[in-house]
Amino acid sequence: MKNLLSVSTLLILLWALVACEHELPVERGVGIELARERRANVSNLRYDLAFSIPEDLEQPCSGEVTLCFDLSQRGMLQLDFRPGAEAVRGLSVNGRDIAADVRNEHIVIPAKTLRKGKNEVSVSFIPDDAPLNRRPEFLYTLLVPDRARTLFPCFDQPDLKARFSLTLDIPEEWVAVANCALQEETVREGRKHLRFQETALLPTYLFSFVAGRWQAATFARDGQPVSIYYRETDEAKLAQLPEIFRQIDEALDWMEEYTEIPMPFPKYDCIIVPGFQFGGMEHPGAILFNERRIFLGEATTDVEVLSRTDLISHETAHLWFGDAVTMEWFDDVWTKEVFAGHFASAITRPLFPDVDYRTLDFRNFNVRAYEEDRTAGTTPIRQQLDNLQDAGLIYGNIVYDKSPVVMHMLIDTLGPYAFRKGLQDYLHQYMYGNATWPALIDILDTYTEADLKAWSHDWVEGCGMPEYPESDGLPNLPARGYGYYPMSEEAIDLALTTVSTLDKPYQRLSTLANLYENLLHERLSPDQLIPCLGRELQVEQNTLVAASALDYLCETWRHCPDEVEALLYEVARNRNIPAQIRLSAFRNLAHLHRDPAVDEELWQKWQTQRPWPGLELSAEDYNTLACELALRRPSDLEEIHSVQRGRITRADRLARFDFVWPSLSPDKAVRDSVFASLLEPENRATEPWVQESLRLLNHPLRQHEALDYLVPALDELQEIQRTGDIFFPKNWLVSTLSGHDSPEAAALVRGWLEAHPDYPPLLKNKILQAADPLLRNAH
Ligand SMILES: [Zn+2]
Repeated sequence: MKNLLSVSTLLILLWALVACEHELPVERGVGIELARERRANVSNLRYDLAFSIPEDLEQPCSGEVTLCFDLSQRGMLQLDFRPGAEAVRGLSVNGRDIAADVRNEHIVIPAKTLRKGKNEVSVSFIPDDAPLNRRPEFLYTLLVPDRARTLFPCFDQPDLKARFSLTLDIPEEWVAVANCALQEETVREGRKHLRFQETALLPTYLFSFVAGRWQAATFARDGQPVSIYYRETDEAKLAQLPEIFRQIDEALDWMEEYTEIPMPFPKYDCIIVPGFQFGGMEHPGAILFNERRIFLGEATTDVEVLSRTDLISHETAHLWFGDAVTMEWFDDVWTKEVFAGHFASAITRPLFPDVDYRTLDFRNFNVRAYEEDRTAGTTPIRQQLDNLQDAGLIYGNIVYDKSPVVMHMLIDTLGPYAFRKGLQDYLHQYMYGNATWPALIDILDTYTEADLKAWSHDWVEGCGMPEYPESDGLPNLPARGYGYYPMSEEAIDLALTTVSTLDKPYQRLSTLANLYENLLHERLSPDQLIPCLGRELQVEQNTLVAASALDYLCETWRHCPDEVEALLYEVARNRNIPAQIRLSAFRNLAHLHRDPAVDEELWQKWQTQRPWPGLELSAEDYNTLACELALRRPSDLEEIHSVQRGRITRADRLARFDFVWPSLSPDKAVRDSVFASLLEPENRATEPWVQESLRLLNHPLRQHEALDYLVPALDELQEIQRTGDIFFPKNWLVSTLSGHDSPEAAALVRGWLEAHPDYPPLLKNKILQAADPLLRNAH
């Protein structure tokens, strides 16, 4: 007995020791260690969720959730819930009410209330409004990448897939759409009570519902209903619904045929959302589309038609890649994006055979990827992500634009047959589960002699532009390669003199890109490149190539402002140049001009609203021009303000104008107070307005007076990340830094980086990317 007792005491002690060791600290966000621990411990997860939604936007929503799950070990458990203690109204664990311990964005469930095996945790709570996107008459949830934890208590990590049962209590006149079909509907006392069928296994970021006043058009696919929900009322646009359905149907057919796997979810409904922040979002059974991308206007270009088909195909392809087979962690988010992008192209491009895809791809992918990949802040395609709260920082040109280039290489290596077979194996093996990029490479590797692991190590896990041996001729003419191609003096001379005469647009574009990279490596000077770009712009009829030539020209502005200004002026006036390029030159001229004669001419154009013949300026262009003129003509400030303000008819445009205007003040004290106000989160609700203000405060013509803003803007960056949307940190930095080119500004940024050696790496990379032109030029 005694012996036995001491053994059990010892065991308890040992257990306590182990438990203590495993007890992770309660930290903000969802750390990777916490995610791994929960993944090992939690299984058979189900969420039973109920939300009550009042019509009045001032009234809060309320929610209740019951999580049922098995634990393989008893121990303290952290539920993710960002809104904080006051938003938790009640907590019960395994049938017993307990006081909620809410810390650092988590509800901490004590070990003693849990047990090995089955558990049930119920929470009543007030959700944050942000992920509900509440608008007058409707709302929609958008939980990617880690917003589920702001809506309801959960394990917010993509590898803890769960089944969701949803109940909604909404105003009687509203309808609702969720991941699964409606199971039950009752109406009582002006309220509608809806219960939806239980979902297949889904990660939290794909759980979704939409409610409000929506119309629906229902079509049939193989006898199953497909409903398209919308708020649009224009008959001409609604006439496009059958065409939209046809494209959904075709994309589904294509994916089913290619993968040999039927649509992996029981229904396909979609909602066309006005003012949606992305192009689309792939929630199974409730795909969201941006209204402006789906309903096309009267004067529609081929590019808009193509882009709609591409968007529908992209979100549909996600049902297989991302939804049915999901990444384990957001470090692999690029995988689902690159596959959806690849299949969208494969579906769409044969329908538009006249488009020059090689030139388009080079401009969209290579040129944009180089912008980040050449900087000290570049990252691998597959980045390390320590906490899900930083998942938004993963997105950028490397994920969006370098990964399609790398995907092309992979398909070239494998050939289309092996690529398809490998993907089918991958889908079968991981259906409704999670997979990593290395797991896919393991499968594809069995189909080729090539060493895919080494290739992936270089291109996916490695970063930067590869540097090729020096070339004496014109390198990368087929525009299939990726990287920096150093050119000899002869090669540079040849390129400068012949680029405009090359036969194919992609050859000209690739050559211009090479010349520009060689300029950055100081193998040629701006004095050599600028006249070449000027000649090219006079004759180039391909708008993709001309647009790049113009971009490169504007990049050299810091070195030779007068020459660049003169060329922009010529291009903007030249009627032989494509209108789109002239317009772009005009906009750049408005921003960069310093010549008083040019200013006088632009002043007249703005007053009379009569641009140069053949050039069409929009109301928005006149608005921007007014700001540029106000900055240069303090004595005309009042006139510009009253005239331009009088021209604006729409209320939202007027609000933006009033927000931005004070940043143009000739009085530095006024501008200082504008900048100080932008450091308060409540003044940053409309991010594009903030960016415009910052850009004007830090305008090249005022950069010396704006040096004071650099350090506080950098100091604010972590707050910007915490309170803003995922692209805001980079945009905040670009708006602040792009007007600066002085050695003082470069020294301030360098000094700040040195003073913050332990700064979060993902955020530091954004600084190094945005500051690259400044740090490169001002040495
Ligand atoms: Zn996508």
